[in-house]
Amino acid sequence: QQRSHGEEKVISSQHSENRNENNTTGSQIDFKDMVLDGEMDQRPPLETFRPGYLWISDLTHQNWCEQQLYYTFTIPGIVKENPVMLQGSNLHLARELAVHDIVSVEVMSSEDIWAVKLLNLLTAVQGFLNGIKIAREIPVFGTLYDETFFVGLVDELRFDPENYTFELVELKTRQARSFPSKAQQTQHNLQVMLYKKLFDNLVQGRVSKEVMVKHLHISLDKELGEGVRNHMGDKLLACKTLRELTDHLFERLQCLTCISGLSIEYVHQESQETLFHHLVTYDEILLESQVHHYLGFWRGKRPPEGVAIEEAWKCQRCDFNSVCEWRQRKAEECMRKNKSANNMS
Ligand code: SF4
Repeated sequence: QQRSHGEEKVISSQHSENRNENNTTGSQIDFKDMVLDGEMDQRPPLETFRPGYLWISDLTHQNWCEQQLYYTFTIPGIVKENPVMLQGSNLHLARELAVHDIVSVEVMSSEDIWAVKLLNLLTAVQGFLNGIKIAREIPVFGTLYDETFFVGLVDELRFDPENYTFELVELKTRQARSFPSKAQQTQHNLQVMLYKKLFDNLVQGRVSKEVMVKHLHISLDKELGEGVRNHMGDKLLACKTLRELTDHLFERLQCLTCISGLSIEYVHQESQETLFHHLVTYDEILLESQVHHYLGFWRGKRPPEGVAIEEAWKCQRCDFNSVCEWRQRKAEECMRKNKSANNMS
């Protein structure tokens, strides 16, 4: 592991926002919040569940089962603690700590929270410009396709200074030593393609401060809190506002280049040994059509969809299988089809 002395990741010490991208239930809305004056809330899910922006993990969860994602928002308390995910998070943390220290900074406002994200991205960017070859847990953000704002957290970026190339590596832990199923691969491929799209847009200067203000409801000129300013002072960074910090970050980002390689590293949970390195081919057309379909749900253009019949195996280990209307409807459809087939024969 290459570790530069003094590399740090900042975390917010006081805010309720979801810190872990994979924790999609972090800002869960209670079902009662959707009922206004005795009527169901008719606002699109994007406004009801994720005002401001979506996490990349929202889309990957949707790719697994959109109905399940919907239930995590509307039926709280059903999802069980998953020890497998917890072990995965511990491995991520161990890898993260191998490349930088974690420093807690007090935040007082949404602007401070965003300053922390930007500082973590800036640390990675600055590290690459100083010759560091690996950065982990790197925030990426921006709008995609229909102007929906997304935020994600890249596991790892590897920089090759000789060829001036970047490779993105996503770490996935596995209980079994077997190769991931097709459904898991599709989900993981989507995730890394989305990260690449966001990162490339940032280095190509396609994310503007105005777009951030519009979606994130932040002020560029409000003075940042003392905790954040003190931390930046320690790093010899004299930015008083998000505008100054964003300008500095965007300028530095444009010295980098787009991601040229995508891969997924599958690690065995128990032994922590790398099982496979799967290379992913970036497919812009596929990505665009998938994201458009998923945004149809978030924009309220269509109801949530459950899994296709061929993927009904996913329902076996789903926390919502006893209450799922989609599953029940599909089971009834199957029974009707079988009945009419029997009548015809
Ligand atoms: Fe999706 Fe199946 Fe779970 Fe329903 S039971 S939410 S269709 S995985």
